[in-house]
Amino acid sequence: MKTIIEPFRIKVVEPIRMTTPEYRESVLREAGFNVFLINARDVLIDLLTDSGTGAMSSEQWAGIMRADESYAGAESFHRFYDRVAGLTGFEHILPTHQGRASERILFEVMVRKGMVVPNNNHFDTTRANIEHSGGEAVDLVVEEGRIATSRKPFKGNLSVERLERCFAEVGADRIPLVMITVTNNSGGGQPVSLENIRAVRAVCDKHDTPLFLDACRFAENAYMIKQREPDWSDHSVGEIARAMFDLADGATISAKKDGLVNIGGVLLFRNDELAKQARNVLILTEGFPTYGGLAGRDLEAMAQGFEEVLHEDYLHYRLRSVEYLGTRLRDGGVAIVEPPGGHAIYIDAKSFCPHIPPEQFPGQAVVCALYRHAGIRAVEIGHLMFGGSGHTPDMELVRLAIPRRVYTQSHVDYVIEAVLEVHAMRDTIRPLMITEAPPQLRHFTARLREIDD
Ligand SMILES: *Cc1c(COP(=O)(O)O)cnc(C)c1O
Repeated sequence: MKTIIEPFRIKVVEPIRMTTPEYRESVLREAGFNVFLINARDVLIDLLTDSGTGAMSSEQWAGIMRADESYAGAESFHRFYDRVAGLTGFEHILPTHQGRASERILFEVMVRKGMVVPNNNHFDTTRANIEHSGGEAVDLVVEEGRIATSRKPFKGNLSVERLERCFAEVGADRIPLVMITVTNNSGGGQPVSLENIRAVRAVCDKHDTPLFLDACRFAENAYMIKQREPDWSDHSVGEIARAMFDLADGATISAKKDGLVNIGGVLLFRNDELAKQARNVLILTEGFPTYGGLAGRDLEAMAQGFEEVLHEDYLHYRLRSVEYLGTRLRDGGVAIVEPPGGHAIYIDAKSFCPHIPPEQFPGQAVVCALYRHAGIRAVEIGHLMFGGSGHTPDMELVRLAIPRRVYTQSHVDYVIEAVLEVHAMRDTIRPLMITEAPPQLRHFTARLREIDD
């Protein structure tokens, strides 16, 4: 059979409130052409993010009822611990309320003023937390990772050459750890190969420097390794994920992605002394080490989510449906970041709207057009998000992030039809200007208007 079906049945439904283009036009104007300021009830298909927006399974909900809410040593913690230990092989497993809490604790323990942390591409909270600890976050992704049209299989890889150069220039004593983000979220959700993780490990060993994974999407990365890295095609996704973790000294995880939960995070270590320090910060800022800022029920949901995410039927459906969206857009003449990544499709807004210069926000103009036309909420990753400090981003992108297990193929078909219809009338998309914006992270709260309005 060619048709890939969603490998689940629907037991609970959440109605979508239908709206008209006229209504959405007034919503858009009221929100100052910023979709972060639109209420979720006015959105038909919400592709703002895949973080914490997934649907839980009946087994996860059953776990929520089963949960032990004891303050210390709860059964739920032990189920969570055993699952994560089996998956990753790490001994020290600290629950946190989400990924950035793991990051903050890790960098508080390991990073000092003047230090440098290399990564393929730092996610924005990772970068911000390193800077908060006085360090500098540097991005060392391979060259093809910065070229939208390149179709190389592992565009998330960290450049070993650039890493060696970084060690030579900065000195190992100022590099407290090296990180690799799997998949590379800020670089289009592109995967990292096991060969690359091993090569980075070898460089770290040479300099006696620990390697940590930002492993939010470890399962999607592992599945792409299975599909694309010849040595690994016969291994299970669980074995591949384990091989990835085996090469690292620790990891941060936001369980809001491949943990298949709405809230939760994990911080992992092999080293006893680091774990001890981190546990003390955890107690100070998150909670006792057997709940870490979460309820017992959240630990149960995570324990089950980390098991379900390795099901290959699920991963096959997940990655295939993202690829289906990407392929259909490309076939319809829409330029996207190639090849389709794990959790999202990124539309190249510069080629979508060549009549709008970057400083008039082509990506945001496409985001607004998609909302107005079809009630779809996407997010701009370009001049509005990164242009605030006079910096010009390489690419002007519109990200369509796909929540896990939430939308069906007919929803995806609706998105495809909408993007292609907006593309057909792209000449009418109007440039934007900012009317008010805060000095930092302006994309969340800025207000804009259409030029020539
Ligand atoms: C989401 C994400 C984080 C941060 O996790 P939160 O749960 O949102 O705090 C860190 N790194 C990457 C790669 C992410 O995708």
